[in-house]
Amino acid sequence: MRIVLLGPPGAGKGTVARLLSSGSGAVQISTGDILRGAVQAGTPLGREARGCMDRGELVPDNLIIGIMEERLRGPDCRKGFLLDGFPRTISQATALRELLGRLDITLDLAVNMVVPRDVILDRLTTRRTCSNPDCQEIFNLKTRPPAEGARCTECGAPVVQRDDETVDAISRRLEIYNEKSSPLVEFYAQEGLLFTTTSLTKEESLKDITEALGQAPRSTR
Ligand code: AMP
Repeated sequence: MRIVLLGPPGAGKGTVARLLSSGSGAVQISTGDILRGAVQAGTPLGREARGCMDRGELVPDNLIIGIMEERLRGPDCRKGFLLDGFPRTISQATALRELLGRLDITLDLAVNMVVPRDVILDRLTTRRTCSNPDCQEIFNLKTRPPAEGARCTECGAPVVQRDDETVDAISRRLEIYNEKSSPLVEFYAQEGLLFTTTSLTKEESLKDITEALGQAPRSTR
């Protein structure tokens, strides 16, 4: 399965990607996770990306396209991939199309996850993330609380609120989504790959996507 997940922050792209990847052999590739790992490790990439991320702005296209080019060539991607948070601009989507063409790979589906703004704000302000860069498990204070002492249930590391998950930073990220990323919906509609789901639970979203994948003309499942 080779899927692009589209949708604003808090739409559930990461959750759905994790569920689809477990058991299918397809790898979840989250550019946000890669960048946060680089920031925590203090690498040159992390130092370059940090300011943009803290402000809720997009990291420059050339940086992201370089990372993804290397990542998609990884042998673990041969069984499929779920792109969570990439592409986020038309120029990233064009670069992805060109790269996949060179690698002789076709996409099955671009899934557009549509979620109302009030639901997003509620989800993101109650979201907590494992601080271990190799884990980054996601929790929610209401629906999936971390273990006692705000610890990750998977690896035991402290669970934190991301700097870009304050109300101000979230509003900025939503504005940027509308301006820079929402045109991707039309881009993938024109490619004949778009599938839209408005489901609000992970179970229903997963069901919708699995059904759509079954009907996708170029599906590699
Ligand atoms: P996410 O975890 O996907 O919400 O990403 C967190 C932050 O990482 C974003 O607000 C951006 O600053 C940066 N980022 C992640 N993916 C991309 C991308 N494809 N293009 C540019 N910036 C990105």
